[in-house]
Amino acid sequence: MKSRRRAQEAGSMLLKYIQPSSVSRNNKNWFHSAVNTEPKVELHTGAAVVDNLRNSDGKGIAETVFNLYKNQETHMMNMSEIFTVIEKSGIRRSDPRLATFLSKLSILHEHLGEKNTTLSNLHVDETTFCQLTEDNLVLLNQIVRNDIIIPDWKSFTNQITEMFNRCKDNQEGEVASYIPQLSRYNPDLWGMSICTIDGQRFSLGDVNEKFTLQSCVKPFTYAICLSELGNEGVHKYIGQEPSGRNFNDLSLDTSNKPHNPMLNAGAMMSCALILKKIFPCLGLAEKYDFLLNYLKRIAGGEFIGFNNSVFLSERENAYRNFAMAYYMQENKCFPEGTDIHDCLDLYFQSCSLEVTSESLSVLGATLANGGICPITGENVLNASSVRDTLSLMYSCGMYNYSGQFAFKVGLPAKSGVSGCVLLVIPNLMAVALWSPPIDSIGNSERALQFCEELVEVYSFHRFENLNNLVSQKMDPRRQTHELKTLNTLTLLFSAVAGDVSSLHRHYLQGVDMTICDYDGRTALHLAAAEGRMHAVKFLLETCRVPPSPQDRWGHTPQEEAFRFGHDEVGRFFDNYLI
Ligand code: GLN
Repeated sequence: MKSRRRAQEAGSMLLKYIQPSSVSRNNKNWFHSAVNTEPKVELHTGAAVVDNLRNSDGKGIAETVFNLYKNQETHMMNMSEIFTVIEKSGIRRSDPRLATFLSKLSILHEHLGEKNTTLSNLHVDETTFCQLTEDNLVLLNQIVRNDIIIPDWKSFTNQITEMFNRCKDNQEGEVASYIPQLSRYNPDLWGMSICTIDGQRFSLGDVNEKFTLQSCVKPFTYAICLSELGNEGVHKYIGQEPSGRNFNDLSLDTSNKPHNPMLNAGAMMSCALILKKIFPCLGLAEKYDFLLNYLKRIAGGEFIGFNNSVFLSERENAYRNFAMAYYMQENKCFPEGTDIHDCLDLYFQSCSLEVTSESLSVLGATLANGGICPITGENVLNASSVRDTLSLMYSCGMYNYSGQFAFKVGLPAKSGVSGCVLLVIPNLMAVALWSPPIDSIGNSERALQFCEELVEVYSFHRFENLNNLVSQKMDPRRQTHELKTLNTLTLLFSAVAGDVSSLHRHYLQGVDMTICDYDGRTALHLAAAEGRMHAVKFLLETCRVPPSPQDRWGHTPQEEAFRFGHDEVGRFFDNYLI
């Protein structure tokens, strides 16, 4: 009751703030009331986590970030500082996990009526900054600390760009022609999108062109069945073995089940299970909505459409799929009461769902992330269903090339005749590739080349030896243990160089700022001896390191400053040594 009343009050406050004249900017809570009209959905970014976001000095993370990036003279912060860090990390401004922050910022921008400045160029004080960021602190904290799965996003994306450009020149393959709607695609189209498990995004080429999922939908209909019905409920009807046959072959396994869910017969069975076993009371239209909405949640709300002419054409030209369905019916494969025409319709509809490489990459990233959509934090599919899906993508996802693909690339993937390939690197990222020309087996030529080049450069093959003394391949992933040792070293170097922004980064990453080398020399000793006033100030004021540690010769940082002729720095220590 109380919270509803609060929300209503806040709602009327919002109206008030549409007319800026009625608002006092000095009221600390004006902002809060203006934007706080809806209950907040904190998903994996729970409030308890936010409460823990405090540094050792007890300061909240928002205050700390503000103090690091504020202008030391005006004590205001220009929002461009934060946007630069966000962009560098690979996280997009449009990421749903930053939505509240962005919408608060645009209300503030409107409210201040700052004509000469853009939204990302606003100057804000500490209180405003804390209010702006309070709902999105978990992600912002992660970004500012660069605590993200691929920390050096720029180098990684530069490599990817080179691979993408090399594949562009590949002129092999023919555009699928079994239905006219597919045959009309320009063979030069080529798009690639990456989404990591932390929601870092990178896209190149024709990434906003729509194409139908075709067989790429199969892992998802299967994963939905597993999530809803459990392993046994599904595998009573579908096998788990590669068939060694064409994707539309008229055959069943020795127990009269479709060989696996990545082939047409198995995918038809997933559709039958969706119709007959999951909420059987729902009508056909509602079942289509159920599937579509499920996929939209897996795609974090990004584009999923429907191509009706592809659907009609698929249905019109589906003699073999009809034959397969009748064959399965004859062998009593389907759950009791299945109408095979309804089942085929849902199968054709699922193949005719449209995506872009952008949205396909998020669909895949949810699989890479154990069923949690990286950009919304929603746990859409359960983790064991995702694991099972990836296993079968690995052994059966690339048609009759699956064995060779598993051998060469060593990763789960699924392709579709529209020219798409979804490659999943578990616990890291998904790559959506799309180019219409396919080889005689049905896999996109450019996409195949890209996958092979990717594992040539990076140690992503499942069975790659990760010992970097043996492997010549790169690994862009954050390496916690090594990083810690490296951090100590770079912290001391940053102090010598007086590189305050690097010191900021170390501090935010939770590096112990009092750490010393073999001779007992701390960052403070080194900064003082080199006369780095800003670094000394930062270490004493913000990090609150002890002001007079002794090195192995008994020297304190203040003595070091005087010893090397940096009197001003030496005197600055007096403020801390009472
Ligand atoms: N709609 C196509 C079919 O059922 C999908 C096949 C595919 O992408 N391989 O034949």
